[in-house]
Amino acid sequence: MTTTFDFDVLVIGAGPGGYACAIRAAQLGLATACVDARDTLGGTCLNVGCIPSKALLTASHHYRAIAHGAWSSYGIDAENVSLDFARMMAAKDETVRGLTQGIDFLFRKHGIERLHGWAEFSGPNRVSISGKAVTAKSIVIATGSDPSPFPSVDVNNEDGVIVDSTGALALKAVPGRMAVIGGGVIGLELGSVWNRLGSQVVVLEYLDDILPGMDRDIRTHMRQLLRRQGLDVRTSVQVQRVERDGASAAITLETGDALETIVVDTALIATGRRPNTSRLRLDAVGLKTNERGFIPVDRAAKTAAHGIYAIGDATQGPMLAHRAEDEGIALAERLAGIPRDVHPGIVPAVVYTDPEAAGVGLTEETAKAAANPFRVSTFPMAANGRARANRETDGFVKIIADEKTDVILGAHIVASHAGTMIAQIAQAMEFGATAEDVAYTCHAHPTHSEAIKEAAMGIRSHPIHA
Ligand code: FAD
Ligand code: NAD
Repeated sequence: MTTTFDFDVLVIGAGPGGYACAIRAAQLGLATACVDARDTLGGTCLNVGCIPSKALLTASHHYRAIAHGAWSSYGIDAENVSLDFARMMAAKDETVRGLTQGIDFLFRKHGIERLHGWAEFSGPNRVSISGKAVTAKSIVIATGSDPSPFPSVDVNNEDGVIVDSTGALALKAVPGRMAVIGGGVIGLELGSVWNRLGSQVVVLEYLDDILPGMDRDIRTHMRQLLRRQGLDVRTSVQVQRVERDGASAAITLETGDALETIVVDTALIATGRRPNTSRLRLDAVGLKTNERGFIPVDRAAKTAAHGIYAIGDATQGPMLAHRAEDEGIALAERLAGIPRDVHPGIVPAVVYTDPEAAGVGLTEETAKAAANPFRVSTFPMAANGRARANRETDGFVKIIADEKTDVILGAHIVASHAGTMIAQIAQAMEFGATAEDVAYTCHAHPTHSEAIKEAAMGIRSHPIHA
């Protein structure tokens, strides 16, 4: 007996994992639906994550460059520079609108059925979407993540006093003083935005350094650079309480033996995100999350339940849009019968501060822990001609290669264009390239990427310009 379903594939969640999976499945001829509880498509990334944050990072970067004299070093003087904050925020909203509507267009173009509402499992191959039953041969959980709550703290994104990242992307005015709790990616990116727009920003991190998981050289370098830019980055501090006090937030923290209270206009809680999996009624299909709420999957994104898959932030791994997207595309291709794998060891991570910080593959610390002999070569951006011409000399390129085989194991970059540059190394690693392959690849001059070539030269020999 053959069973008929409403769809071949039903994707729950229209973030970068879910929408990419749905589009590829439909391109490959599968009858596909995608459900999201939000009014707009694109998930966290397009609505309240990657896109609005980068729109504000760029806008605030331009503002700082013109208002605080970076351009005057080129002989460009601007007088009476002013900030129309409402217009800056409207431009950000317009970018979000354009991109989320773009996903709508792609769904229509590929004949994907867009469903709206909260989905929960009601049995094998079956979900209930706001009460209505929908069946599918394959169901993909791409439900993403939400900000982790801070114990006993009430976030209110409307009034802008104690906010999470969503609130920090929609403040109604530039706060005079801001505290960012958590020195991770969100804290540093959004802390940088508001610092450039004029806020006095203090970052409160409970570990002994910022950016956990990144290469130590990046962490040290970025801490110094951010401090130079005016962010008060404080590490090894224990935030005990965050309390609302009228239009301010009072933060009580412990540093060593002392207690201190900081009063700010806005407190941003940026202490991590947690998978959005608790209200899916996974029990209806016999699935359980792990203790941190992630859905266990194998390398092919299969869960323990037949016909149910999970990708992106809902599963263990870096919470990054491109990881979710790649997993979504690969899964759709497998569902259509095309063998496809993803490479979890080659996922670049980028922090879009100024300069940017980026890494892929092993850090020097993880390479040491792996106990396989390796070589490291570092080239400073200050010795790169284009970086000097652009006055973007902060940073370095660091390459780690296997001592015996010369195969590239990882790379770490601090540079104005680190996020774009790291793609070259990710691709080289995807092809199993050696440092020599990269060193003898012709790079256009003058470009920031020549710093990658020079760092690669330094693995076995010497760079030319340092
Ligand atoms: P999500 O994008 O979270 O999408 C999941 C969707 O599922 C949501 O729309 C949600 O409404 C929907 N949903 C959940 N449960 C249900 C349900 N039961 N029924 C119906 N719908 C449901 N990553 C980067 O790579 N680069 C960046 O620059 C970057 N910047 C970021 C900046 C900020 C401020 C934040 C918060 C995150 C940022 N990220 C960035 C992380 C990135 O947004 C996530 O890794 C990515 O969105 C994860 O994609 P996803 O498809 O797994 O889930
Ligand atoms: P994160 O895990 O990057 O950083 C959280 C930081 O908060 C850590 O440094 C942690 O030590 C610190 N922390 C935790 N509890 C604390 C406490 N009680 N007091 C003080 N510090 C505390 O998380 P995030 O910055 O919230 O970002 C969440 C996710 O979103 C990340 O996994 C990231 O990958 C993703 N994201 C990516 C980008 C990007 O790719 N550019 C940008 C933003 C967010």
